[in-house]
Amino acid sequence: MVHSVIIVGGGFSGLVIMNKFIESGVDFLLFEKNDRLGKKILATGNGRGNISNKDLSLNHYHGSNPSFCEYAIKTYDNRHIARFFEKMGIILTEENGRLYPLSKQANAILDGLRLSDNGSVRFAKVTDVEYNDGIFTVVADGKEYFAKNVIMCVGGKSSPNFGTDGTAYNLVKKFGHKITPLYPSLVQLTAPKESIKGLKGIKENAKVTAYSNGVKLADVEGDLLFTDNGISGNTVFYLSAYLVNAKNPFVTVDYLYNVNEEVCKKSLASRRNAYPDLTAESFLSGLVHSRISYKTVSDLFGTDFLKVKYKEIDDDKIDKLIGLLKNTEIKITGNTGFANSQVTKGGIDVNQVNNTTMESKLQKGLYFCGEVLDVDGDCGGYNLQWAYSSAMCAYKSVIDRFLKNKD
Ligand SMILES: Cc1cc2nc3c(=O)[nH]c(=O)nc-3n(C[C@H](O)[C@H](O)[C@H](O)COP(=O)(O)OP(=O)(O)OC[C@H]3O[C@@H](n4cnc5c(N)ncnc54)[C@H](O)[C@@H]3O)c2cc1C
Repeated sequence: MVHSVIIVGGGFSGLVIMNKFIESGVDFLLFEKNDRLGKKILATGNGRGNISNKDLSLNHYHGSNPSFCEYAIKTYDNRHIARFFEKMGIILTEENGRLYPLSKQANAILDGLRLSDNGSVRFAKVTDVEYNDGIFTVVADGKEYFAKNVIMCVGGKSSPNFGTDGTAYNLVKKFGHKITPLYPSLVQLTAPKESIKGLKGIKENAKVTAYSNGVKLADVEGDLLFTDNGISGNTVFYLSAYLVNAKNPFVTVDYLYNVNEEVCKKSLASRRNAYPDLTAESFLSGLVHSRISYKTVSDLFGTDFLKVKYKEIDDDKIDKLIGLLKNTEIKITGNTGFANSQVTKGGIDVNQVNNTTMESKLQKGLYFCGEVLDVDGDCGGYNLQWAYSSAMCAYKSVIDRFLKNKD
């Protein structure tokens, strides 16, 4: 039997298309190599399912050709995805610009996407895709299946524990598709030991700015977490999208971004005057975590200074301490790798793909959706939105062809 479509991958984009095909009566098969559909969806947004964002400006998307995603994101935007889920009885709600299901449970999204499962899902790994005489042959678990169209919804190389180990890129190389260099993104960053010494486990609210070769890339406010080998937290996940392939990357941290600098200086001067005999190690602990106070004082004036009395900290030193709290530089040495990253930067070269249909320019009937393409979004719902928008483009192209009986 020759099916109209075979979908490879039962993650977010694959399940969106599955729902649309069921609604339109297109006959299809979907192959998922895990023993369950949409395993990764359950982990998204810390289990709360952050599926889109109020602000879908294109500067939140990256890749070697960032304008590639413009048509898809604008045509199938956050209102479109909200209507899609509304039809399943899932209402979206906003928190700090991020869109979640009202229940704030990612399993609501997955359950919704599985509601219409019509028995067309096969739990098997696709190991080969070939094209001969107008028909695709898809090999899964050693058996051959046939279709007029194949949609690759196989994800990237990040978080292989969810089935996305990057091996699926090989399935399309034979069609001439190029894969741009792959990097883990939305990932913890590593830093030299001395720059984070003594800070493990501390979570501070800060403004963090990312630089490449001294040029500012982006900044963000939020939590910054110190780990045993680097930095993490919302700010770092966000900035990692800019830093993982940057040259000479570093970040600067402003711990006092939401406080007036002069007020801080005055407050430190009065602390000095009120407690002249206390020792310098705790001097900044009214502004930042005590361990950051300790480290800032010793980084600036040396460890001997930690035992110096408050009364010896003159105004010039106060200026310098505040200056460092507002601009602490941390060199970035790397990241914790694909195993710990949420998204893959790089993928199928989008110059070989039609940006309105997601169809290959090299092989008619072959489509790509979601993370497998060289498009990655910022932290905040941008990647699921991309998976949705690209899936809708592919769906529309296949259905147009189907309705026109072109194939
Ligand atoms: C922990 C975590 C949290 C995240 N949180 C968010 C968030 O809150 N918001 C957001 O926007 N994004 C988030 N993301 C990213 C987002 O989940 C992905 O970008 C998105 O799921 C990509 O969708 P996709 O359809 O392209 O691929 P995926 O959802 O990754 O699905 C690909 C599927 O293809 C299957 N597959 C692969 N190869 C084969 C094969 N050969 N045969 C059969 N099946 C195959 C895989 O098993 C997998 O199920 C998060 C990611 C992780 C890991």
